[in-house]
Amino acid sequence: MNLTDKRCLITGSASGIGKAIAERFVADGAKVAIADMNLDAAQTTATALNRMGPGQAMAIEMNVTDETAVNTGVQKVVDTWGGVDVLVSNAGIQIVHKLQDFPFDEWKKLLSIHLDGAFLTSKACLSHMYEAGSGSVIFMGSVHSKEASPLKSAYVTAKHGLLGLCRVIAKEGAQHGVRANVICPGFVKTPLVEKQIPEQARDLGISEEDVINKIMLGSTVDQEFTTVEDVAEIAHVFAAFPTNALTGQSMIVSHGWFME
Ligand code: NAD
Repeated sequence: MNLTDKRCLITGSASGIGKAIAERFVADGAKVAIADMNLDAAQTTATALNRMGPGQAMAIEMNVTDETAVNTGVQKVVDTWGGVDVLVSNAGIQIVHKLQDFPFDEWKKLLSIHLDGAFLTSKACLSHMYEAGSGSVIFMGSVHSKEASPLKSAYVTAKHGLLGLCRVIAKEGAQHGVRANVICPGFVKTPLVEKQIPEQARDLGISEEDVINKIMLGSTVDQEFTTVEDVAEIAHVFAAFPTNALTGQSMIVSHGWFME
């Protein structure tokens, strides 16, 4: 299973997990669109990937909550490379508050980036995949697609929702050779997680060390963070798998934090 010449669009891939997936795909010969709302960072990532090869990358400015920006960005991939084979809907943010304190505008912002983003990018890519008769849609879920934690009402709601959207795409897409799957990572040390360590310490009234050792890693089998490379490896499997045998699934990669 390899991704040579596969045309991939990865949202939120200027940083963190998305960037590592882009690196893994380009290392395997793929063409990867680095779609991110931070264009400067996307360009820096694309330049580094083009130097690395053997695949290639291009930066695309895309706010995944903006339908016009999503459609324009997907069309750019199609115009440049002739189609899109793999979508990784990865862009996401984290906002933590107790439910009774959660500002409604922050709730809507988080749900929009995770759920509207997955819907809009899928909608824009599926017609091209259906035309080609094949494709792979991958959503970045989380252990929080399966499990709940205090302070994370919006995030847990959004990540659970992605499982439903994935399963509908798996059913609608099957006759067109299109698969859909969800990756569910545990805690990965990216800017998204670094930001919430002091926020959780404040809201829970505990030390930052306890947030890491008890809240984030307390239920793992070995007190280790999942790495961006671990997640990229699972993305590679979902992207490169050749048949509809692997569709509608969610894969947890979390050092055993959550088992099913
Ligand atoms: P990150 O903050 O390192 O990267 C997120 C990227 O998304 C950034 O480049 C940012 O510019 C981009 N982005 C944010 N809003 C956007 C928007 N509206 N449109 C386009 N791009 C946007 O975060 P990360 O940890 O790499 O997270 C990536 C995904 O992985 C998210 O969906 C997150 O929920 C999920 N995830 C992360 C962890 C973790 O522990 N880090 C665990 C499970 C799941």
